[in-house]
Order: sequence, then C-alpha cells, then structure tokens
Amino acid sequence: MPFAPPFAKDDDDVFHEECGVFGVFGNDEASALAALGLHALQHRGQEAAGIVSFDGKQFYSHRALGLVGDNFNSASTINRLKGFAAIGHNRYSTTGETLLRNVQPLFAEFSFGGFSLAHNGNLTNAMTLKRELINRGSIFQSTSDTEVIIHLIATSQAASIEARLIDALRQVRGAYSLVVLTHEGVIGVRDPLGVRPLVLGKVGDAYVLASETCALDIIGATYIRDIEPGEMITISSQGLSSQKPFTHVPSRFCIFEYVYFARPDSYIDHKNVYEARKRIGIELAKESPIDADVVVPVPDSGVPAAIGFAQSSGIPFDLGIIRNHYIGRTFIEPTDSVRNLGVKLKHNANIAPIKGKRVILVDDSIVRGTTSKKILAMLREAGAREVHMRIASPPTINSCYYGVDTPDRDKLMAAQHSVDEMCRLIEADSLAFLSIDGLYRAMNEPSRNNAQPQYCDACFSGDYPIALTDRDNGANAYQKDLFAKCAEV
Ligand code: AMP
Repeated sequence: MPFAPPFAKDDDDVFHEECGVFGVFGNDEASALAALGLHALQHRGQEAAGIVSFDGKQFYSHRALGLVGDNFNSASTINRLKGFAAIGHNRYSTTGETLLRNVQPLFAEFSFGGFSLAHNGNLTNAMTLKRELINRGSIFQSTSDTEVIIHLIATSQAASIEARLIDALRQVRGAYSLVVLTHEGVIGVRDPLGVRPLVLGKVGDAYVLASETCALDIIGATYIRDIEPGEMITISSQGLSSQKPFTHVPSRFCIFEYVYFARPDSYIDHKNVYEARKRIGIELAKESPIDADVVVPVPDSGVPAAIGFAQSSGIPFDLGIIRNHYIGRTFIEPTDSVRNLGVKLKHNANIAPIKGKRVILVDDSIVRGTTSKKILAMLREAGAREVHMRIASPPTINSCYYGVDTPDRDKLMAAQHSVDEMCRLIEADSLAFLSIDGLYRAMNEPSRNNAQPQYCDACFSGDYPIALTDRDNGANAYQKDLFAKCAEV
C-alpha cells in the first residue's frame, strides 16, 4: 500500500489507502479471472488497478490509474497478460496521492527470478526500516510501504523464496494481506493478527485468493475458507500447502470491515457481512429507540442497518434518499468544498416517503460529519417533520493506521465534539451511536472482552493492537522529506 506524497494534503501523518487483492493459480485464463475478481473488489480501491501474470517463462504486467473496467476493458489487454497464474490489486487513495510508481502489484527481478507482490493493509514500521535500508544502500522506486518488503527479501540470506519472504515479514509490523506471484506459484499471507481479510477459493482445478468472497462469486469459485491470521498458503503445481511461520498471537480482525468497508454479500470467517450489518441495526434500535414514522437509510452503506432497525422497531423502512451510482465514494473528493459538492451530487431526497414524516435516518458512521450535515438539510428541505439520526457504529474518534482511509483526529467530528454538540452541528432532532458492546453483540459476541478484545476496533476505542512505530518515532516525517525531492506531475 503506497504512502501519501508530501504535497498532497495537510493531514498526512495518516496514510490514505484501502486496497483489494486477488490471486489465481492453475487456470489458462488467469488474467481474465483476475480482472473479474478485481472488478468485484472495486469498492476496496478505485484509484488504480493492476495485474501481473506468469506463463511459465515470463511475467507480464499491466498497471494503470483508473477503475478496473477502464484498464482491463479489451480482449487484447487481457490476452497480453498470458499465463496460468496471475495476481491483481486495486488501490484507493485520495487524489493527491495518485502516483503511477505506486500502482501495484509491485514487481522485482531477484537472483532467483521475478517476484510480484500485491498488498492490502498498512505497515507501521515501514519508514523506520526504509531509513535503515537506504542507509545501507537500497534505492527505492516508490513511496510505498510495500516496497520495503521487496528490499527486505533482496537482502535476506535465506535459501528459498518462501524463506526469504518469511524472513522479511518477521521484520515488518502492521497489517498485511499479501498475494505474491513467483515462477514457483502463488503465495497468500495474512499478518499474525489477521487485521485485513483474505479468503481461499477454488474454481475447477485452480485455487483463488481474494480479499473478499464476492470476488470468488463473480468467477463461480467455491469459498473454501479464510486464510488464518499468521498463515502462509503456497499454491503451486504440487498443490496447496500451508504453514504458520510467525509467533502466534490472538487475532484482531478489523471490525470496521463489517461496519462499512466489505461488500455486504461477502462472507468473512463464514459470517455474512449483510446479516452482521442487519444485526447492528437491530442492536441500534434496541439501544436507542425513538418514536417515528419511517426508517430511511443513507444509501448504500446505511441500508442493511436500516433494515435491521426497521425490523426490530416495527417502523416501516423506506427509501427516502436516492443515490446516484455514477460518482465515486465521497472520500475521494480532495478538498472540503469539493467534498460538499460531492455529497450533493451523490444523494438526492425522495420527497414522497419523507414529506411531513418523522424520519429515523440511519448511516454506518460519521467521519467528518459532511455527509450527515448535508443529508439532514436535504431531508428538511424535502419536508421531513423531524429527523433522528442513528449511527450503526460507535463514534469514530481515532485514525486508522492499518489500512483504512481515515483523516487525522482533528478532522474527525466525534474526536472534536460531544454527541450533543454533533447533534446540534448536523442539525438533527436527536443523534445516537451504537455502543461498542452493542457492536460486539452484533458480531455474536456477548460483549467486548476488554482484557483481550476479539477485534481491532482502534478507530472507536483508541486501543491500537500493533505498535505505531513510524508515527511515534517521527519516521513518517523522513518519508515526506525524502519524497519532496521528486513530484510526479
Ligand atoms: P463524513 O461525511 O466525513 O462524515 O463521512 C461519512 C460517510 O462516509 C458515511 O456515509 C460512510 O458511509 C462513509 N465512510 C465511512 N468511512 C469511510 C472510509 N474509510 N472511506 C470512505 N467512506 C467512508
């Protein structure tokens, strides 16, 4: 996952990346399957897409800025990506960070042959390692934390490719779900805490790795299981093998994947994301009931929770807001003024079901508060009598350093204001968030186990399960300094 360049934004000590990865071994149309898989994972990354394939003799690569459908829309592009094995990557970041040299999968020539790597997550000590590597003579090509892994492999003395990769990964900290392509096969690895998802599937004789099961569905692959936290799967002509090369630690999967990020039709750990979101809505209705006429979701992310809320409360569900699907997620907009415009472009009030009504408005989260404020104003303008906002997660009060795009704390509305203040600022009649225990109950846990939390919920709790080495030792500033020297224009 690439780092933000120094000239992009003013809140750059958090790196703004979310990604989707895909890998397939054992199908002669591997790159076509990869393009389809990436298309299903488009919600995880909309800025750039790339595929690297291998046909037994040579690697082929196509990486470009833009959507999967824009980059892999011709038979000739897919046909040039020859081979029975391929990996792919979708990248998502804010506009200023659009650097071609960061587009994945990364590729390197080693003494043992070609090596390509796609990463979802974020390493928290990459800049510290990078500083050491540069001092020892490494020359970096990108601003990407992922490239550190390539350099650690290059300097490893271990004998096999796998052993070098393990050697490298034992030195990095952070969140990583990796898909690797070598002349021997495809490798999938998850970090010891399993922060980001990675699943295994099969289509015919071919094995498939993907960030989410929706990428298996699109190619008719069967979902076998999730790669376990700390597990490394190797798929080659010898078949599939698994090892657990890292010290075992209790897992901490990102709970925000269930709240917002994953596609609702995906299964994570055999748990359906849509059903989990509906349970979130049920918990929210139980915790913060309110008398009203209609439950309206902020589409699309608020829909499953609003359905759960409506089912639990007995208040009818209706589509009081219509979303235009032809613009990207609001977060992509680079400045506050454009972001405001983006919200207007994206949502419109559907007057009939809301005029004169007392509305319960359900969204998955409040980040900067821009969406809520705009939508509240829109509903009032459309004649809603009352608007009660219900948020299907606890207040987001901390930035994510493990691969979800969140602004700095000073831009997070809930980090700066009390719930009452937020209610006034967004001009709602009432505002309530789901409690952290309510969120865990929706995950079928009795409550959050504070001694050993079952998930990573740092964005809500501030409890960061992996050391934020670069942030704490100032190494991020080093990265900014380093890449101030060349701006891609
Ligand atoms: P905001 O307008 O800044 O409060 O953003 C809240 C909206 O952004 C909600 O409707 C969420 O569905 C959506 N959202 C929450 N987290 C993210 C994220 N990491 N990336 C993109 N959109 C998000």
